[in-house]
Amino acid sequence: MEKYQKMFFERMKKTLSQWELKDFVEEGNIYRFLHTVKGTAASIGLSQISNEADLKIEQLVETESRPWRKEEWQPFLEFIFVDRMQEEEVQREGENIEKVTENEKLILLVDENISTVNSLKASLEKEGYMVLAALSAKKALKLFYDQKPDCILLGIHERNENGFQLLDTLFEKSQAYFIPIILLCTEDKKEIRLRGYERGAADFIAKPFEFDELKVRLENRIKYKDMASNAVLIDELTGAFNRKFFKMELSRYLYELNRKEDDLSLVVLDLDHFKKVNDQYGHVVGDIVLSGFAQFIIKNKRNSDYLIRYGGEEFILLLPHTKKEDAKTFVDRLLREFSMVSFLSEEGKSFSATFSAGVVEVDNPSTHIEEYVKQADTALYDAKNHGRNQVCIYEENLEVPTTKTNNIHIAVIDDSAVVHELVKDRLSKLSLGNNEIDLQSFREGESFFASAWHKQPGKFLILLDGIMPGMDGLEVLRMLRNDYPEEKFIVLMLTGRKSEEDIVRALELGADDYLTKPFSVAELEARVKRLVKRMM
Ligand code: GH3
Ligand code: MG
Ligand code: MG
Repeated sequence: MEKYQKMFFERMKKTLSQWELKDFVEEGNIYRFLHTVKGTAASIGLSQISNEADLKIEQLVETESRPWRKEEWQPFLEFIFVDRMQEEEVQREGENIEKVTENEKLILLVDENISTVNSLKASLEKEGYMVLAALSAKKALKLFYDQKPDCILLGIHERNENGFQLLDTLFEKSQAYFIPIILLCTEDKKEIRLRGYERGAADFIAKPFEFDELKVRLENRIKYKDMASNAVLIDELTGAFNRKFFKMELSRYLYELNRKEDDLSLVVLDLDHFKKVNDQYGHVVGDIVLSGFAQFIIKNKRNSDYLIRYGGEEFILLLPHTKKEDAKTFVDRLLREFSMVSFLSEEGKSFSATFSAGVVEVDNPSTHIEEYVKQADTALYDAKNHGRNQVCIYEENLEVPTTKTNNIHIAVIDDSAVVHELVKDRLSKLSLGNNEIDLQSFREGESFFASAWHKQPGKFLILLDGIMPGMDGLEVLRMLRNDYPEEKFIVLMLTGRKSEEDIVRALELGADDYLTKPFSVAELEARVKRLVKRMM
């Protein structure tokens, strides 16, 4: 922290000494300068300076070009340097700021009212929740499909039938995952409560509510959701058994099987280029392909075979009484027939999908089943390497797949140098599984668009400052969304806490999330981690 604070003071001094050489400074420049001070200071534990900057900003107009003489702006900005005595205290505060409660739960917050969204998002985030904000039904559904939250908080009014319609749609989709929907209502009327409960709401909270109660009720609902999810052995989306079944039932089953010295083959199946299916047709259609695939296998397998959804779009098929050659013949038939199944895009265009598979024969009772899964995976990797849409049998000399490393491209577009340093320091140390971070800094939108950096293949996470000289953040966002493929660029907007209008605009323009300045480094890190997860 100390390092950033020192740097912060140096930067500020540098700007001001440049200003000293000028006859006057335009009010708009002072406005933006203070904005940077406010945001940056708070992120590095200088909250007093941040608060003071905030008060000063209120006296200024961003678009004003009125010239300020040195005699005017110097005393106005003096507060930044006056009180270095607070430093010690400040550093302790900086340490506190680092702690963000660990809580991996994801909340989808849907409300037309930005003030409600803003304050509730902030309160929940303070408790460590990840919060996705949606101001419209369309955005809510998109976020639901993309992220499958642990709980939905849905704002509703008595006379607003749209809210209830959204409840119907969300309820229909969320049932399968046991995701509870909690209604937040402006009126506490029995009639609305009944309507809500009838249509599937899990709880009803009337505004104004006290946050501690909302939090407890939310935790309670999520606890029940976790219990329900843990109890089931069938994956609801695909109808296949889930991983828990595989772990629980299988060892017992295998023991029996080995005792009888029967044959058993294990097949790993993985859809080909499924990321592209999602990107091209959307997650809803992706889900349909996924469940269509599972249904196709279930229809074609024997009753005694087991289909298990092992990962996202990866399945395991267990074939008792089957030698590996026969397993291969069977999977070859599945491959041929599945490629003739057609799916429909939302526009009504038909397309087909393929998969690849790896086969292994389970023939040694003392080998752990996970070891067989690994071997089948190796064979699957071989099938993918040889052009996909095929099945390979595991052999010992097969090359073991190396874990893929992905490049995660992250850009910071912000005019504050301290924010750049801070982000660079923290994010380059971030551990993101097998991914390597390619971090790039831009001081303004113009240079971002002018550079070739964003033309690389792969996905990008953009941390975008709302207020910058020249092209501002919203403009950068609008250009990104107009001229670039949406799924390639995930945008995290860094906005001022008071600029609710800007937040609304940013969400309307398609920002994926926003973080209000001042934010702590830990908050930023947590947010980046979650967004990066989505990019993989
Ligand atoms: P490959 O041919 O090499 O397998 O390419 P791929 O694109 O299928 O790559 P990979 O198997 O690594 O990617 C799996 C993708 O499947 C990533 C994820 O977005 C998507 N996915 C996982 N679970 C679900 C799901 O439940 N629904 C949808 N729609 N997509 C999912
Ligand atoms: Mg795949
Ligand atoms: Mg896969």
